[in-house]
Amino acid sequence: MTVNKTEQARFVVVSFDGLRPDLIDSALTPNIVRLKERGVTLACHRTVYPSETRVAFPSLITGATPDQHGMIGNKYVDRTAMPTRYIDTSDAKRLRELDLESGGRLMSAPTLGEILAKRGRSLAVLATNTPGTTRLFHHKAEDFGHMRLSGHFPEACTPDTLKLEIEDRFGTLPPAPPPGTPDLEAQELITSAFLEVVWPKSKPDVTILSFGEPDTCSHFSGTGAEKTREVIAFCDKQLGRVIDWWEAEAHNNDVQIAVISDHGHITGHTRVSVADSLRRAGFSPSTAPGVDVDAVVVPGQVGAIYLPDRTDRNVIKAVEAITSEPWCGCVFTAPKNEVEGIAPGTFGRHLVGVEHARSPDIVFSFRTDDSVDPFGLVGGTYYDNDRRTGLGLHGGLHPKELAAVGVLAGTAFLDSGLMSRTPSGICDVVPTILEVMDIERSQGMTGRVLQEALANTSAAADSSITPDIFETGSGAYSQALRRVRVGTSIYLDGGWVGSGAPTAARRHA
Ligand SMILES: [Zn+2]
Repeated sequence: MTVNKTEQARFVVVSFDGLRPDLIDSALTPNIVRLKERGVTLACHRTVYPSETRVAFPSLITGATPDQHGMIGNKYVDRTAMPTRYIDTSDAKRLRELDLESGGRLMSAPTLGEILAKRGRSLAVLATNTPGTTRLFHHKAEDFGHMRLSGHFPEACTPDTLKLEIEDRFGTLPPAPPPGTPDLEAQELITSAFLEVVWPKSKPDVTILSFGEPDTCSHFSGTGAEKTREVIAFCDKQLGRVIDWWEAEAHNNDVQIAVISDHGHITGHTRVSVADSLRRAGFSPSTAPGVDVDAVVVPGQVGAIYLPDRTDRNVIKAVEAITSEPWCGCVFTAPKNEVEGIAPGTFGRHLVGVEHARSPDIVFSFRTDDSVDPFGLVGGTYYDNDRRTGLGLHGGLHPKELAAVGVLAGTAFLDSGLMSRTPSGICDVVPTILEVMDIERSQGMTGRVLQEALANTSAAADSSITPDIFETGSGAYSQALRRVRVGTSIYLDGGWVGSGAPTAARRHA
């Protein structure tokens, strides 16, 4: 008998956007440490590729990789529209329009909010991220009468009465501070809104409390900078308020807590221009579709190139232009076989879970290394944006970008301060939540139930852990990708170019 399953179980998922697990310690994050001591730490937890916010959180709430849910980048080119159009998923209103005009198919996998609603259960979201990220946690909340509160943006809030009640009690939603200024006020606001309004009034079955920091501070001040550390400590203090409440009244009532992050950060050390490289190869690139544009280079740390001429010949020409550059990391194109993509030297997009109708013709990461940044943190990368060197970045395949925080605590979980070294990932959180709540998982979920973290489970934990290394290359360019399988779930360890890829695993060349 599985005694940890209970229809009374409720969950609070607290998320720190962009928090590197190796920044957790008793001085900076005493409350995360406090929870770790009471629960299970997922010590080999990681995110999906691209390691971007609005790819990772859809993976959180669908329990599936991007090829299943379709949110394959923070920004993408919509080829189903005529003419093709550029979509920035930070825009909450745009996301709603896209969902309505596609008949509810913005995401191509069922979300936690939809699954819970079908069972008459509820998901509440309180978030200080961008309006789009806030909406993506539960993009159909208004259809089910569920709550979604932004700490900054009225357009991401539903229902109107919730925003009115929160503003009546705590004052007008504060504007997002200018980039580089730690976003403190809104973290405190959403935590208070949860503890004083949302929980006492509604007791949602699952609540996502999402701090948009330290991500923004890391991008504008640096991953280990004083301002970033200040905002990490502040968010941790808010988590401490949630743990105080949990210990006082919620723990004994079957409320479970998960603390997560969506990706890590590494440090930009060398600025480059992808567009210049394509121009030298004869392309007319731009950051958005347009007349005379023959290569759309989506801005950001995730390399994404959309080509109006999608012939193999043209894809190969663009791949050759980037793989000859010193900044080029792993490159993925449409699959040719089980490992390789159609362009020589590339992997198939399916190897990293991004094979979807919305995928760019060429997905690439910038070349990374294990250099140490001015703050003593491992992980450096080339980048293409207008910011200075020394700042935080993510989106690629460096292990420190892929590393994510995962802590589970409550009556359903082992409470020994256990460190689980079994690989796990952001796609596993919701399958585990549904298991504890005794709700059936949907078929397309690629994540698994984290049996190794559960108390009193009758199911055996997955013990088959299989590492795989894939290698390919063309001319002077070579790349390697390391993944690990637990049961049928696949986790990305990292991607490398040239020498430097770890060995000692099954090779697929
Ligand atoms: Zn993020």
